[in-house]
Order: sequence, then C-alpha cells, then structure tokens
Amino acid sequence: MGHAYSYRCDHCGYSENFNQGHGFLVHSQSLNDYLKQPVKIFHYKTRNLLQALAIEKNDLFLKAGFQIYKCPKCKTLHDKIEVTVFDGDKIVHKSEFRCPACRSRLKLTNIHRLKKAICPKCKKRTFHRAYSSALLWD
Ligand SMILES: [Zn+2]
Ligand SMILES: [Zn+2]
Repeated sequence: MGHAYSYRCDHCGYSENFNQGHGFLVHSQSLNDYLKQPVKIFHYKTRNLLQALAIEKNDLFLKAGFQIYKCPKCKTLHDKIEVTVFDGDKIVHKSEFRCPACRSRLKLTNIHRLKKAICPKCKKRTFHRAYSSALLWD
C-alpha cells in the first residue's frame, strides 16, 4: 500500500503524481524468493546486481518501494523504486539515483514536509502539493 501525491504548478498548470510506499509487485521479501519469481520488476542492471549478491550470500533480504527524491540543485521531484538489500541488519546495497537534468545525486525527501518544489516544466517555484487528490492504492 502506498500514497500518490499530486503536485500542481500554479504558474503553468502542469501536474504530476508522485508515488511513495509499497506497491503492487514491490514487497519486502527474501532475495532468493524474489529471484525465483517469473515477474521482473526491476531494471536489468538492478536485477544483475541482485543476482550477483544472491550468489555471494544466501539469506539476504530485499526491500523495495517507491520513494520520492529531490535534486539538491534543480529542486525537482522524482519518484523512484528504491531497492535495499539487507544482510541481517546490515545494508549491503541501496539504490542511488541521479538527476536526469544535472546528474547530481538525488536526495531522499520527506514528502509530508515538502509543500513546494520547482516545476519541472516552467522551472518556477510554484509547484504545490494538491491535497485533495491524494489517494491510496494496494
Ligand atoms: Zn510550471
Ligand atoms: Zn538536477
């Protein structure tokens, strides 16, 4: 279950939904179980990496879900499927993402506290959260 956060630009009217949380095929599970599944949900590079980790070690745990990131330079928002692999309590892999515009490393952002961002279309700081259209999905 997760949330979709809707943002709308007051200036140009552009709107976009950002997902956060666990969704449809994205669950916490053992890495070996995930790799046995016929459904491939991750990018092939991520999958190759996960496969390599699973060969190295047996009882790894996989957690994946939508997270919302912000570019520290452009202040634009991006939702991505963050993949974390645990060995017990230890994190052995965590996804990293780069901004498509400036290649800065994206920072995880707290969407609950983020009321304004830069509009990806007109680049003005008038990109507001539209509270009414937040919805839940399974
Ligand atoms: Zn705009
Ligand atoms: Zn950027």
